[in-house]
Amino acid sequence: MKEVTLGKTGITVPQNAFGALPIQRVTTEAAVSLLRRAYDGGMRFFDTARAYSDSEEKVGIAFEGMRDKVYISSKTQAKNADELWKDLETSLKMLRTDYIDIYQLHCVPKCYGPGDESGLYEALLKAKEEGMIRHIGITAHKLGVAEEIASCGLYETLQYPFSYLASDREIRLVETCEDNNVGFICMKGLAGGLINNSRAAMAFMTQYDNLVPIWGIQRDQELDEWLYYMDDTPVMDDEICDYISKERKELSGDFCRGCGYCMPCPMGITINQCARMSLMLRRAPSAAWLNDHWQTEMKKIESCVNCKSCVSKCPYELNTPELLKKNYEDYKNVLAGEVSVC
Ligand code: SF4
Ligand code: SF4
Repeated sequence: MKEVTLGKTGITVPQNAFGALPIQRVTTEAAVSLLRRAYDGGMRFFDTARAYSDSEEKVGIAFEGMRDKVYISSKTQAKNADELWKDLETSLKMLRTDYIDIYQLHCVPKCYGPGDESGLYEALLKAKEEGMIRHIGITAHKLGVAEEIASCGLYETLQYPFSYLASDREIRLVETCEDNNVGFICMKGLAGGLINNSRAAMAFMTQYDNLVPIWGIQRDQELDEWLYYMDDTPVMDDEICDYISKERKELSGDFCRGCGYCMPCPMGITINQCARMSLMLRRAPSAAWLNDHWQTEMKKIESCVNCKSCVSKCPYELNTPELLKKNYEDYKNVLAGEVSVC
């Protein structure tokens, strides 16, 4: 596994890192064991967030006493300087440390900068000056915002969803980051569960020299899979290139990544699964998606009042009510046996 440097931060780590969002769903004991095994297997970069419930606390327990051996990034959803200071203090306490390597503004609606009314950027500079954070980063889900961040020169890293299903424009975003020496922290490398070939996903990442993927890891088996690539690192050979181009054809266009940012729905629709049901039915054994539970969930689509609250919150600017309707029609056809899936 090659090592990459995250832009101006100078942080150099193996191109295979740990996304600590899913560990909030397992016990502290299981999470600590996963994190330590990841470290033993060669991972050095761990990404968490104040918003991931007890994830920071678990990371803090796992790396207490060995803080200088790992790089930890965290995030704040603060909307002003006061909130940022409060979050930062809590994060440092939870992480059992006196510094965070990369502190990121989390899922921003715009590129915050000096002199704007939020005071966020000035607070980040001050926190860096005081040594509470070492580098300033930002995470975005909207491409236009991410493009502005990549070129503005204010941030040392950008975190953005990126996988082999990325559009040409998103690939240019990674290149712009490289040109401007901005480290690219890549989230959703499996496109929210749609990609089920980790080897191809990893091979795609290795083409870039300024990018570190953070794989969301919840189970030992998932960790084993990523650690396996530390020694046997996949490359973009002919077979993987052909596979990826087939996948890109099959999954082109607007599709729901399952991120859930559009929720909650006032009618209780599980948008992040129901809006991509057609894909899930075809990319995984379909039986689990056709059970009573999911039939009930899909039926809720009938109650959509078209309030468009989901549309305004979707970072991918999807027409979610339309997507739900299309998925529901397909689902009913599959249930009736009129369309066959795997
Ligand atoms: S438009 Fe429909 S699916 Fe979207 S939030 Fe409103 S009720 Fe829910
Ligand atoms: S509709 Fe948009 S916001 Fe909602 S889960 Fe899908 S991609 Fe995410």
